[in-house]
Amino acid sequence: MNKKTVKDIDVAGKKVLVRVDFNVPLNDKKEITDETRIVAALPTIEYLLGQNAKIILCSHLGRPKGEFNPEFSLAPVAKRLGKLMGRKVTFASDVIGESAKAAVDAVKEGEIVLLENVRFHKEETENDPKFAKKLAAYADIFVNDAFGAAHRAHASTTGVANYIPAVAGLLIGKELDFLGGALDNPQRPFIAILGGAKVSDKIGVIENLINKVDAIILGGGMAYTFLKAKGIEVGKSLVDEERVGLAAGLLKKAEAKNVDIFLPVDTVIADKFDAEAETQAVPVEDITPDWMGLDIGPSTRMLFTDKIRTAKTIIWNGPMGVFEMAPFAEGTKAIAKAMSESDGTTIIGGGDSAAAVKIFGYAGAMTHISTGGGASLEFLEGKELPGVAALEDK
Ligand code: AMP
Repeated sequence: MNKKTVKDIDVAGKKVLVRVDFNVPLNDKKEITDETRIVAALPTIEYLLGQNAKIILCSHLGRPKGEFNPEFSLAPVAKRLGKLMGRKVTFASDVIGESAKAAVDAVKEGEIVLLENVRFHKEETENDPKFAKKLAAYADIFVNDAFGAAHRAHASTTGVANYIPAVAGLLIGKELDFLGGALDNPQRPFIAILGGAKVSDKIGVIENLINKVDAIILGGGMAYTFLKAKGIEVGKSLVDEERVGLAAGLLKKAEAKNVDIFLPVDTVIADKFDAEAETQAVPVEDITPDWMGLDIGPSTRMLFTDKIRTAKTIIWNGPMGVFEMAPFAEGTKAIAKAMSESDGTTIIGGGDSAAAVKIFGYAGAMTHISTGGGASLEFLEGKELPGVAALEDK
């Protein structure tokens, strides 16, 4: 990475504002159901503690739309972080108000303050310079470690970098090393597996990856748009009608570049979008007009897992089917299992595929699971992430 990290500057005893990604899922009782993102921020926090820095943490949680809403409070995160670290975390009940000012003024070397949800202010997502300046005034140094928010140009991800020296945290460093390393210097064969529902999200990724990978595997809801582009009738399966032409163009482009694109050869169809639906596995050419494809079929599972077995670098983003419903989870499960058995480099691009490998018990066997769904997709598209661009060059 060509950006300075927290290890490239002197943070000893300094006040450090750390933008972390504590956007964790909460249940109805406001209990954290997945602490991965908190755990992922620990190496940077521990490093700063080791340097006796005064640590001020800042994050968003959910989409509170620019106003205070207790539903999106970071209070449960402060508690969990304190428990994970076995030390006191002072929680400020606002971001730029009295509570935050008092906590920031009082923070001593080796202590941690967590500010309330930065998106309680609309100025955050507007990247308002005055708001960013107020945040920056809390500290001597800014560390961005929120990879999951690095694709957003907000006050706490890019704005503050205009006022104080700004460097990357260790999580951002690790994410970019794995994702960037795979893209720029992959062991071959290098394959990408893309799935999920939205073709629109993945067009840019396919365009960019065609120049980097040896093969692309397409599954999930988005695959039907590509099947349609090949003239196959897909019944009531998900199709992005506006992008059928684009999909055809991408297939041609891949062929011209000698990049294999593997599409499903069979599919699990259902008579309705329901876990109790009637289902059947059929070749893609035989999708019943009134039915919809909700998972890849058994032959496709074999085809795709065979490809995974021969690959040395594999990047996966997006489930192969509606994995949230048991009858349509087998495709996604098979990919997760095959990747877990690979001795190549296996990278999960965050979001639903990260959730799936965790649910199916394969998380521990992956080389890297990204903490940022949107951010990793934009990175795979070849875009520069604003939260990274704003940091000091090495
Ligand atoms: P995305 O946000 O685009 O990555 O899409 C993720 C979602 O795609 C998941 O919630 C899956 O349930 C859904 N999905 C995967 N395959 C299909 C399919 N064949 N039809 C409809 N939805 C699907």
